[in-house]
Amino acid sequence: MKDYIVRATAAGGSIRAFAITAKNMVETARRAHDTYPVMTAALGRLLCGGAMMGVMMKGEKDLLTLQIQCGGPAKGLTVTADSQGHVKGFASEPHVDLPLNAQGKLDVGGALGLGVLSVIKDLGLKEPYVGQCELQTGEIAEDLTYYFAASEQVPSAVGLGVLVDTDASVRQAGGFILQLMPDAQDEVIDRLEQRITELASVTEMLDRGLSPEEVLQEILGDFGLEILDMIPAEFRCDCSKERVSRAIATLGRKDLESLILDGEAIEVKCQFCNTAYSFTTEDLQGILTQRMEIDG
Ligand code: ZN
Repeated sequence: MKDYIVRATAAGGSIRAFAITAKNMVETARRAHDTYPVMTAALGRLLCGGAMMGVMMKGEKDLLTLQIQCGGPAKGLTVTADSQGHVKGFASEPHVDLPLNAQGKLDVGGALGLGVLSVIKDLGLKEPYVGQCELQTGEIAEDLTYYFAASEQVPSAVGLGVLVDTDASVRQAGGFILQLMPDAQDEVIDRLEQRITELASVTEMLDRGLSPEEVLQEILGDFGLEILDMIPAEFRCDCSKERVSRAIATLGRKDLESLILDGEAIEVKCQFCNTAYSFTTEDLQGILTQRMEIDG
């Protein structure tokens, strides 16, 4: 099954809803970064959340970055999504190994510990929008729920889940985001709150093989669910040798010169997808010459 995001409304438009299935996306990230299971789950949950938050943006070139900086062994996570279902990301420490938590689940909260979630939206304006809040549990879904309420004043419910198989590959990944619009009536709010307390975990729904439409049907079936559209989702990085050489060009001139003097080719990896780009001393000389022309 391909990865995709479903966008929907319910209760006459006073609830908006998103759901995603993202097994391939998270498996691609796992392979690119060689994440251990708890970090596959951590990065996977943030990728799922990021992909859904990405398609909430309206502009074609809008970019969303979710960044977690934390005190646990994971140290941090970064995910960037566009408004068309493309997402990329990395874990600062992909090789965190922790025992399962008291519920027998991968201990994402333990891997992250205390920390800060930053949400950066580049909407083509002069300054990007930056929202920040403290991590609540480090389990990511609760942290995004808190972010929406505290920073965007939108009451929301977020569920995210990644199931890692015994061979460490991704068996299922996905999630949902429900949001109450300002015109939601008290009766709808009460019923939805009640519904959410009865809900099975996302992991359980995914393991039953539910599609994103079926996940939303299960939650919002009694609320007049209306599926609006389906957006293909994918782990995709837009790096290139050109882009990486622009990053190298920002090195100090002395550093560049000493790399050239070493006389050896260097390899630079893209942080987001781990693709390696090789630069010969001639390449580096070219970058230095260009740089000196810019510097005058
Ligand atoms: Zn890349």
